[in-house]
Amino acid sequence: MKTDCIFCKIKKGEIKSEILYSDQYCFVIKDISPRAQVHLLVIPNKHIEELVNMDKGDQVIIGEMFASAQRLATDTGISDSGYRLIINQGEHSGQMVDHLHLHVIGGEQLGGMV
Ligand code: 5GP
Ligand code: ZN
Repeated sequence: MKTDCIFCKIKKGEIKSEILYSDQYCFVIKDISPRAQVHLLVIPNKHIEELVNMDKGDQVIIGEMFASAQRLATDTGISDSGYRLIINQGEHSGQMVDHLHLHVIGGEQLGGMV
């Protein structure tokens, strides 16, 4: 937990956001500013800023995040039509929240990569 982190605050209930799913590895919320009809964020419970900051043993968290993303895609009905998974890393990517998270974006035709 990091006291000034938006996602840690959401997890603790200090910032209001509906938690759509949670397990021992991660939790899922809707992005506050959705870029497509479906835009979810899969967020590890552990405060990891970027992939480079992962501890040994954290790889299991990444695997579970992708498993959650795949389940969410099925549950929201976008699995067959396709979707995009994005993890922004650092300044050039435009990462705004310094707590690792996986964007799950779909439900409509998406534009080019960048
Ligand atoms: P990043 O650019 O760091 O990869 O993405 C951070 C995402 O978090 C952005 O898409 C932004 O809209 C979303 N976000 C920022 N603050 C909040 C918040 O308080 N609640 C929710 N649900 N999403 C947020
Ligand atoms: Zn955090």
